Amino acid sequence: MNKYTKITASVGPKSEDKQTLTQMIMAGANMFRLNFSHDTGDVQGKKIDTIRQISAELGKPVAIMIDLQGPKHRIGNFETENKYPLVIGQKFVFDTDSTPGNTTRVQLPDVDVLSSLNVGDRILLNDGKIEMRVDSASPSRVEATVIRGDEIWSRRGFNLPDTEIATSVLTPKDRADLEYAITKNPDWVAISFVQKPEDVAEVRDFITQRTAHPIKIIAKIERPNAVERITDIAAAADGIMIARGDLAVEVPFEEVPAISRHIIRECRKMNKPVIVATQMLGSMVNSEFPTRAEITDVANAAYLRADSTMTSEETTIGINPAGVIETMYKILAYADSDAIANPYDWSRVENIPENDWSRSVASMAYLNRASAIVVFARDTIAATQISCRKPDIPVIAVCNEAVIANQLCLARGVFPIYDNQLFGQRDAFNAARQFHINIGKLVIVDEDKISLRTLD
Ligand code: PEP
Repeated sequence: MNKYTKITASVGPKSEDKQTLTQMIMAGANMFRLNFSHDTGDVQGKKIDTIRQISAELGKPVAIMIDLQGPKHRIGNFETENKYPLVIGQKFVFDTDSTPGNTTRVQLPDVDVLSSLNVGDRILLNDGKIEMRVDSASPSRVEATVIRGDEIWSRRGFNLPDTEIATSVLTPKDRADLEYAITKNPDWVAISFVQKPEDVAEVRDFITQRTAHPIKIIAKIERPNAVERITDIAAAADGIMIARGDLAVEVPFEEVPAISRHIIRECRKMNKPVIVATQMLGSMVNSEFPTRAEITDVANAAYLRADSTMTSEETTIGINPAGVIETMYKILAYADSDAIANPYDWSRVENIPENDWSRSVASMAYLNRASAIVVFARDTIAATQISCRKPDIPVIAVCNEAVIANQLCLARGVFPIYDNQLFGQRDAFNAARQFHINIGKLVIVDEDKISLRTLD
């Protein structure tokens, strides 16, 4: 109960069996991320079925997030599989010619990308290890100068931090993946390489044209133009992921902590949950213990009041995925308890109007030293908004639909229960008792009625 920050766990070859998934849920995983960059179709479908089955067996809501690959760009092939030398200051050409590449040129298969590049734009290849700058650009040929890097080879991924790419956020592969994923009723869908609010609207249209199931959308922030438009993107999406992997390639890496703080603050203002992702416990791919820096990184996400931290390779290909979740749980639980025991005056930085109803709920709870807030949740809005005021006591959300309970697994400090009887009887006391809260006061939020009751 004392861990308020949620854990999103990526699922992969080392964690997709029923036993490991069960152990991860028992250890504190609240949401699973299925990355469609790797498996697709029924292979992912089976994992969804297994998670749903475990969740039903344990009687514990668990969210499922589909993560779409998005327009991740790669250069074409070279004449051989060898590495080709690059010299700083040399010219290098990207074109539409499918002839294998050499030391002076290679194909850039995506024509939308080639035609979006402008003189002066940076091309960052191979996780930023190679940097080139565009000297001349036409829709079929771009000439660039090598600024950094000493070798290049086939199919390297690349990032274009200065370029607004005129392409749909959904590639043909994403469309096929999403079409399939929709049939499995996921709780959340994460979109990669979002650039603008319209990208979120495009995905929402795609989903609503195909299903009435209320799937929520996470926008992954990994491009500088998305950082600039974070408020509009957060308004269009249902949640945000700070995808620090690609972000640290696209912006100077030293800016990533400041950007993360800014995004977390914006999301709290906009009442949208936010996930901090990538390399949080990365060394645990091969080790039973995290580094000191990783422990501090996870704790800092909790101190900043992010909704969720996320695991990546440490739970997909690591030696002990359940051990990673146990480790993350311990760090978060300690940091969350410390943050509550030694509070910071969030009201000074929040910029939320005094008459905001969710602020009133949090203040009422604070002034009356309430033990918990119980929300009867017909949708995710009220519980999420109260969570964004970070009341530092449990927000118990009694839900009348499983999907609402699952989606609330992401919201910081929200403990969802899917129980039609409790919901129908508006039984806040029994809901609190399920979490061993037997004494003190409850703030109860039931549609537009807010009341204060003492537990007997
Ligand atoms: C990231 O870049 O940090 C990220 C989470 O995205 P992906 O793992 O899909 O590259």
